[in-house]
Amino acid sequence: MNTEWSLDSLYKGYDDPGFSEDMEKAAKCIEEMNEFSRDLSGDREENLKKILRLFEDQELLFDRLYSFCGLKSSVNTNDMESASYLGKLMALMSNGTKAETVLKKYISETENVEELAEKDPLFKEYKYYIEKAIDDARYQLSDEVEEALAKMNISGGDAWENLQSSLTSNLKVDYDGKTITLSDVRNLAYDPDPEVRKKAYDAEIASYEKIKEPVAFSLNSIKKETLTFCELRGFESPLEKTLHQSRMKKETLDALLEAMEEYMPMLRKYLKYKGRALGHENGIPWYDIFAPMGDSTKKYTIEEAKQYLKDIFDKFNPRMSEVVKTAFSNEWIDFYPREGKVGGAFCSGIGPVKEFRVLTNFDGSFSSVDTLAHELGHGYHDVMIQDHRPLNWGYSMPVAETASTFNENVVMNEALKNASSDEEKLSILESILMEVTQIICDIYSRFTFEKSVFDRRNDEFMSADQLCGLMKEAQKKAFGDAVTEETLNPFMWVCKSHYYSSHLSFYNFPYAFGGLFARGLYLKAVEGREEFLKKYNRMLEMTPVLDVEEAAMVCGIDLTKKEFWLKSLESYTDLIEEYGRLTER
Ligand SMILES: [Zn+2]
Repeated sequence: MNTEWSLDSLYKGYDDPGFSEDMEKAAKCIEEMNEFSRDLSGDREENLKKILRLFEDQELLFDRLYSFCGLKSSVNTNDMESASYLGKLMALMSNGTKAETVLKKYISETENVEELAEKDPLFKEYKYYIEKAIDDARYQLSDEVEEALAKMNISGGDAWENLQSSLTSNLKVDYDGKTITLSDVRNLAYDPDPEVRKKAYDAEIASYEKIKEPVAFSLNSIKKETLTFCELRGFESPLEKTLHQSRMKKETLDALLEAMEEYMPMLRKYLKYKGRALGHENGIPWYDIFAPMGDSTKKYTIEEAKQYLKDIFDKFNPRMSEVVKTAFSNEWIDFYPREGKVGGAFCSGIGPVKEFRVLTNFDGSFSSVDTLAHELGHGYHDVMIQDHRPLNWGYSMPVAETASTFNENVVMNEALKNASSDEEKLSILESILMEVTQIICDIYSRFTFEKSVFDRRNDEFMSADQLCGLMKEAQKKAFGDAVTEETLNPFMWVCKSHYYSSHLSFYNFPYAFGGLFARGLYLKAVEGREEFLKKYNRMLEMTPVLDVEEAAMVCGIDLTKKEFWLKSLESYTDLIEEYGRLTER
């Protein structure tokens, strides 16, 4: 089996005539957009159709070209040819930005969406798209102001974002007589040796002193800019803007947060069990939160991973099993790490050919198999939406992790059932409970912190020490007495890039949303599979054209009710008790 992906269904290479043809077509498409945006005097309905078709052409061409160059570059970051084509594509795209804004504005001035949708199938398919354009336009400023803001953002918010990223990625951490990077030292939190974990934590904390002040400047500036832009655009708060971008109601977020608050004591119990097992009397120290537990030395080959996933999904969701089979046999997955290849894992949908590609850095561990299940879940979601027209190939952030996390639930529960020893069982329970504690307790602390920064930023500039104080308060609120107070990490705001975007705030609650939503769906699937799977597929298919609450309703779930979220959370209680029993021995 080929362990590298094939991109032949896109182009055979840069010398493929199809590639240069599409590059030319893409340039022409942008030209046509520019031309059309200068004269919109004709019949409104015809103009609308023409704009939608132009946008569709643009999407089809650029999606294909970007996918090809981007995917090639991700497995070989030293590939200069790909880098240069990516640059060309970006320049081409930016030639069309102005026209795109004008044409989108034209769409947003549509007054008779309902009527159009009844008359014409094209408008019917794009009803949600047009409605959202109208809705978004309420927060748009005049063309001149928008242009000025976008230009100034390069030296404003975006520059501050680059500063944080540059300072943290170049930070030299003094560890054990050596100099290592911040991400290296943070990875040592997973080391089996308790001494290594403690030393790494001390080194990490000490290293932040070198950059905390400039990073505090960066955070203060980004948050101030966000507040200013929100006020100019007429958003009540940055949170309101994020909810708007997420196509999600405030009631849903409130219900989710309330359920999290109610259930957190139970997760603290898990942390205390873990602390006790590691020899700590009063809660767990921060540096031991990620300590590995139990035994997870079992190794898998790629063939075994495929068989493992196929067996599980044959039973659970045959359509998912088909997707697994297709991805493995059609060379849609790039498995192993190699020089120049990016780290981590991702899935990238390729609408124009109704395919997707998955990149992983497979190391044979069970967690690698779980990662495959996760990414293939994204692929499954992509396949579900690719029958829509091209402008409906996206979905909002909160639902983006639904299918992937759903798959992880299936795989983890199957693994738990089949564990052959207590040690193996403990290691699986540990990864389930560690994950849920992160998306509930840690995410809760991040949300609380970001909210308090926004609440204060209008009136004051916060020093690094003040920010540390806020972070500590937030962590205490989330972890309570389960984590020893002296060991809390007050610098978590320095290292997490999520706080440093002026375009997207509160990039934290979507993790809690995604995890618990997928868990709730999984619980429903266990109750009555056949019936449920039909609804589940339908829901995934509808995610590009519905708000999150409406999408969940397809599966009969009311996201604005605390009960739904609480039920997802309560399903962990038995696992926590089992964990307590296993660690007691
Ligand atoms: Zn994911």
